[in-house]
Amino acid sequence: MARHGGRGWYGQVAAAALGVTAVTVAASLWTAQAGPVDGRAEARTSTHHSAPKAAPVSVEIAHASDRGARGVNITIDDGPDPVWTPEVLQVLKEYGVKATFCMIGPQAQAHPDLVKAVVAAGHRLCDHTVSHDVTMDTKPQAYQSRQILDAEAMITKAAGGVRPLYYRAPGGAFTPYSRKVAASHGMRPLGWNVDSKDFERPGTTAIVATVEGEMPNGPTILFHDAGGDRSETVAALREVLPWLREQGYTFGFPVR
Ligand SMILES: [Zn+2]
Repeated sequence: MARHGGRGWYGQVAAAALGVTAVTVAASLWTAQAGPVDGRAEARTSTHHSAPKAAPVSVEIAHASDRGARGVNITIDDGPDPVWTPEVLQVLKEYGVKATFCMIGPQAQAHPDLVKAVVAAGHRLCDHTVSHDVTMDTKPQAYQSRQILDAEAMITKAAGGVRPLYYRAPGGAFTPYSRKVAASHGMRPLGWNVDSKDFERPGTTAIVATVEGEMPNGPTILFHDAGGDRSETVAALREVLPWLREQGYTFGFPVR
């Protein structure tokens, strides 16, 4: 789909590398200015795995797993979707896996029952903006901040007060500014290492082969639960999740 095109992982690595200097400056500014982070609603919700209350999150794009070297992070993007999110939730439940759901604000608003089901099952929320604009890195700062903060509000409201802990730019189109906005609202910028390419519907076998072949790239794996027929994704998860466990991986969340 066009909205996912044009940006491979290597392009994102290069873009991230170029951003490092600016981000380092922004990070130190942020650290210097950081007071108590406002409104950590998730900390009051016992079903949610919340980070320490007052710790500001880093503006650096997270890839690592909180389960260490053999940890993997399953991330599920572009939902929630009334057909596919329940199916993905079911597979995750069968294999006892907790995942991170990167949600589109208006879809969360339209399906609050699904957002609450995701939270109730112990998964984490991630802000994936309002419009899924993969060219957000070329847009004015006011636009970037609206895209991030409006979606955050929609997701939080749909979740009954549980806040997203991460921000993933659509297509990986982060900017130093968008990372700072997200981090200042308690959302760690979230990247990925393994793109399952499930969005392109290459067939279940191909999705499984891509994930298995690219695991040396790193622990954060990208799947989708919306944007079209995701039956291949559901079928691939049924193979990939037990395979990962057989390989000695444990399932965790991206570091915060
Ligand atoms: Zn996306």
